[in-house]
Amino acid sequence: MTRRHERILWVLAALALADLSALVTGRGAARALDEAVALTAASEVEEAEEAEPEREGNREAWPCEGYVALTFDDGPHPETTPWLLEELETHGLRATFFVVGRQVERFPELARRIADEGHDLANHTYDHPDLRQLGDGAVATQLRVANEIIAEATGVTPRWFRPPFGATNDRVRAQVGANGMTEVIWSIDTHDWRASVSEADVVAAITAADDGDVVLAHDRGKANTPGAIAAVAADFEARGLCSGEVALADEDDEPILGIEGLTVRPWGSD
Ligand SMILES: [Zn+2]
Repeated sequence: MTRRHERILWVLAALALADLSALVTGRGAARALDEAVALTAASEVEEAEEAEPEREGNREAWPCEGYVALTFDDGPHPETTPWLLEELETHGLRATFFVVGRQVERFPELARRIADEGHDLANHTYDHPDLRQLGDGAVATQLRVANEIIAEATGVTPRWFRPPFGATNDRVRAQVGANGMTEVIWSIDTHDWRASVSEADVVAAITAADDGDVVLAHDRGKANTPGAIAAVAADFEARGLCSGEVALADEDDEPILGIEGLTVRPWGSD
């Protein structure tokens, strides 16, 4: 039951009680209503005291039997990102945003909002080059500058890095490690940036995910992904799946398909 539902029940219960006492004692309806309002106000004070920080831990409303990491690349974008954030918030899902440094530079308030709303920020380079084409120094600069911009805008120092186009090699991974990050590829690709891919296709791709999957989607470019979130959340709820965060795997964790050393865990458990 959500807090809003709890509050509505409280008001109804208070009104019923006040009504009853008005009947018994013969007091007026106005007085009864006053009492109901006072009771509600008291419950609101209590609620404010009890309310845990809403965005810590899991905010999912259903029991979790498995965890899927939702990841969104290439933002932040002034149209797609706010819409996506609203959908995630409404439907109780959290995600990892692999942001591009240049976009964070242009829209620092959106990057801050991503962090403020309980999502993770990760590094997707400064301006999205194919890192295999660059020398070691240029690769290092792409990673370092993006991290500096993200940290300055949000206070978050990224732990995760995703190479543009998934294009990587040992040289790139060495620079990622030297910058204190771990590379995160994906196990499910929505192809949501393609002109031919519809919202229904995005829903089908994400709902094919199961426990331990890392889903690649985007919050920049063709914007049909935010519209898919409601259906994704309904499917996850029906299957007992929750959104989780990428984490370093222990020896006894099931490896993610094609992603060595990583797993998906409940938010905040690392
Ligand atoms: Zn990208």
